[in-house]
Amino acid sequence: MCSRTCAVVALSCVASFAADDSLTRWKVHDRSRPLPPVITPAAPVKPPSDAIVLFDGKDLSKWRNGKGGPAEWRVRDGFMEVAPGTKDIHTGQAFGSCQLHVEWATPDPPREKDQGRGNSGVYLMNVYELQVLDSYRNQTYADGQAGAVYGQYPPLVNASLPPGQWQSYDVVFHRPHFAADGKVLQPARITVLHNGVLVQDNVSLTGPTWYMARPPYKAHPDKLPILLQDHDQPVRFRNIWIRELAE
Ligand code: MG
Repeated sequence: MCSRTCAVVALSCVASFAADDSLTRWKVHDRSRPLPPVITPAAPVKPPSDAIVLFDGKDLSKWRNGKGGPAEWRVRDGFMEVAPGTKDIHTGQAFGSCQLHVEWATPDPPREKDQGRGNSGVYLMNVYELQVLDSYRNQTYADGQAGAVYGQYPPLVNASLPPGQWQSYDVVFHRPHFAADGKVLQPARITVLHNGVLVQDNVSLTGPTWYMARPPYKAHPDKLPILLQDHDQPVRFRNIWIRELAE
């Protein structure tokens, strides 16, 4: 028998669906509901037709150093490589919610160990790090290995390939929303596939990622650059593209 609890649960489900106004704006199978845009898909490693290509293997024209000048990482043979000591680089363009594709490879043979082995990072909005690390037979703390939201969420599985091999991240990121007074209305959320395997399933970030800390959110603009980390190791990147997501 359906109890009062069932009814309460059912009502709360209705309330939660009603919160998505796209479900109240159109009836089921409404022929007037806008159709998704038709795009040309491509092979998995190539950008789809509506993507913004951030790095096509030729130059760093879409990237800047920390002072806003030209990015100083090396480009050769279709990839860019961290030039240790030149510091992080970031996109000239700012982004909020997005789908992001990045390919990366850690040094082979590997050097050092733990967090010193092939460390870099892909930062959404400058401050939310998706860790890049050589996590193939390399012990480190769970929330610091490849596929981790650094310091917050370990990956669901370790889908790492050996050093030197190209690996991929496919990311769906929803930016945080802030009230005018800086209060968090919606935390950032991230879904990540590492080499095609789900490693982060729509997790809510606690705030910016940080070493040995989980600082609270600090209100920031709706769009900020994508940043790649110089962690003193010559990690390589290629085939970086992004699709902005409508709010
Ligand atoms: Mg890192």
